[in-house]
Amino acid sequence: MSDYRVLFIVGPGRSGSTLIGEILGQYPHVANGGELLLWWLASRSTPARRCGCGDSLTTCEFWTAVSAQHPSLTSPDPQVIDELYRARSVRHWPRLWWKSRGGRQAKPEVTELITHLYDAIATVSEASVIVDSSKSPGYRLLLSGSTVHVRTLHLQRDPRSVVNSWRHEKIDALSPGDSLFAIHPLRSIFEWCAQTLAAQRFIAPRLSADDFLTLTYEEFTKAPRGRSNQIATFAEIETSTNPFHDENHASIHPTHNIAGNPDRRGDIEREILAKETWPRELPVRWTFVTTALCAAFLPRFGYRFKARGAR
Ligand SMILES: [Zn+2]
Repeated sequence: MSDYRVLFIVGPGRSGSTLIGEILGQYPHVANGGELLLWWLASRSTPARRCGCGDSLTTCEFWTAVSAQHPSLTSPDPQVIDELYRARSVRHWPRLWWKSRGGRQAKPEVTELITHLYDAIATVSEASVIVDSSKSPGYRLLLSGSTVHVRTLHLQRDPRSVVNSWRHEKIDALSPGDSLFAIHPLRSIFEWCAQTLAAQRFIAPRLSADDFLTLTYEEFTKAPRGRSNQIATFAEIETSTNPFHDENHASIHPTHNIAGNPDRRGDIEREILAKETWPRELPVRWTFVTTALCAAFLPRFGYRFKARGAR
């Protein structure tokens, strides 16, 4: 097994994984890579995508050093890359799940490619834990049978918050390629259900309690320091040095992370508060549709059918 660990975050987009990755990146011996498995797309995109440190991925010293570690990081086999990015699509998850049963590698050549990236990051950063918030269950299934020790965090968020967030685009003015565009509610509902089902039925049953943790973004924002330390402890990260001044305030310095939510990039002092905006922002019809279509999953994560004080 590798001498480092990967904390792999699965869950829906707009679930707060960028923020949690940035917080964990402040702990000692942690490299927060962001949505790492986008590396092969992001590093070759035109115009160049931006690293969390503010430099472009083509000029950032960290990623320049990482990409020099193995030829597959700059010149991968195109067929292997196709296989990797096919794993983002929901329709491939059942097949990946079946092929990875019993700890097998569903796509050994893809698992090897991903391992080259993790090895390179561990070498350059000298970190003992790498945070990968790539989120897709398909990517996580590709790590089955890997020589890398992976701990999996299923980061969940209320589907009505997710659907509400995806209604709005988030433009990164400095790096348009890193902008997040709006998604129609029906598509974000479908993706939320598929992500949830895959995380809880395809991934969790194969892992021990030491290797799989479920946490909701709502639980996280109620006690950011406590929950950050809980995730860190789960990933065997030392918690005595952490970025929090009190329960809700932290100093978050830039990390070399890829993609993710462009919000708040550059703000070092952060206040993290629990706030639920969907009850007043999400139109009634989409609140109803989202609640109805996701109803089977809501109690599992402690979500109510109605918001507190809702209409
Ligand atoms: Zn950087």
